[in-house]
Amino acid sequence: MAVTRTFSIIKPDATRRNLTGGVTKMLEDAGLRVVASKRIQMTREQAEGFYAVHSERPFFNDLVTFMISGPVVVQVLEGEDAVLTNRTVMGATNPDNADEGTIRKTYAESIEANSVHGSDSDENAAIEIEYFFKPEEIVG
Ligand code: GDP
Ligand code: MG
Repeated sequence: MAVTRTFSIIKPDATRRNLTGGVTKMLEDAGLRVVASKRIQMTREQAEGFYAVHSERPFFNDLVTFMISGPVVVQVLEGEDAVLTNRTVMGATNPDNADEGTIRKTYAESIEANSVHGSDSDENAAIEIEYFFKPEEIVG
């Protein structure tokens, strides 16, 4: 294993319920370090670009509308095997299928309002980090 980086979003359902700290604590307890973080209101254009890979999925418009329904916290996380470590602590997309102790099992409201995003590969992590952060905003 090596120390790598991944990209995370604390989604609007979690910021709305004041769970920024709770989610971040679970990420940190899993061994991840927040090396960049900012609270933003995404524009529709920004959210559509971020989720472009899902543009043909039936839930795309609902997902974009949800992601701009309130502020989000975008973060760069660093740690051993960061993509996998983060995906493990996040839990399954549908909270009904998420393991006990995961962020989604603990906090998610539904398959859509599932509290967190996490990159699914090192390649996508690099693309997603670049989408939201300038290099000088990341301090390891
Ligand atoms: P993730 O990598 O676990 O976040 O899941 P995906 O990449 O497959 O989907 C991206 C996001 O789209 C999920 O985190 C959910 O917010 C949303 N989503 C996924 N599947 C569904 C669905 O069947 N219905 C709705 N409404 N939203 C979904
Ligand atoms: Mg995904």
